[in-house]
Amino acid sequence: MARDADETVVQTQRSLGAPGPDFGTWETACAVPSNLIRYDRFMPQFSPGQTLLIDADDTLWENNVYFERAIAAFISYLDHREYSPAEVRLALNEVERETILSHGYGLPSFTRSLLACFERLNPAMMNEEKTQRILGFTRAIAEQEIELLPDVADTLAELSTRHRLILMTKGNHAEQADKLSRSGLASYFSEVEIAAEKDPAAYRDVLRRYQLAAETSWMIGNSPKSDINPALAAGLNAVFLFHKDTWILEHATLDTAPEGQQLVELDSFAKLRAIF
Ligand SMILES: [Mg+2]
Repeated sequence: MARDADETVVQTQRSLGAPGPDFGTWETACAVPSNLIRYDRFMPQFSPGQTLLIDADDTLWENNVYFERAIAAFISYLDHREYSPAEVRLALNEVERETILSHGYGLPSFTRSLLACFERLNPAMMNEEKTQRILGFTRAIAEQEIELLPDVADTLAELSTRHRLILMTKGNHAEQADKLSRSGLASYFSEVEIAAEKDPAAYRDVLRRYQLAAETSWMIGNSPKSDINPALAAGLNAVFLFHKDTWILEHATLDTAPEGQQLVELDSFAKLRAIF
């Protein structure tokens, strides 16, 4: 999904009646819903009082890049005679899909996946020393300081004066709560939701529990698979924030916004201030 990092890309429904778009190379670089328009100059603006559900990992702070570093170290350490690094990565993706089904998201689950992958590809080589080395790769992730993405704190501070902000993340509860606490951002959110999975049922559940109107509720995040598509399916509006290091298991084609719902794409968190 290559795109110009400096380019402001906003998509919304054709029914807003904007002038015809110049799709350029971006249109051919990735599949986009057919009823979306790209705006360069005309930013839609939404009135105060919206409810903004905001993703955490790779939306507020860096996350997946640390896992990518651990995976690179793991593949290099494994140094497989038969499988290329790309083949080892594919095998790890497969193991991760299986582990997530049984143990959910988060660091303990990822650690389990690395150990299982090593054992699957190199069963005769597994021993206590190798186990400890692999645990070291994931320990480095746990010890990582929180690195906020650009302008996140200032933008949240401003948005929280006009809208209700709810943190909407998935994964290991203790791990995600600890990251929020260390981020210094907790005070901007009126509620925190840490779901096991972010699927349409999870979004409908949040709408119901907080008695939110879907038409003034938005999911904002970097994952088409967990943030955008299931939120649209549950009747919410959505803002897609592209992040170049989004985890491969979160990749998906953006769905089309159903009639009456909005899908906006922005290239930076700070630009949320321009529309909300
Ligand atoms: Mg995310």
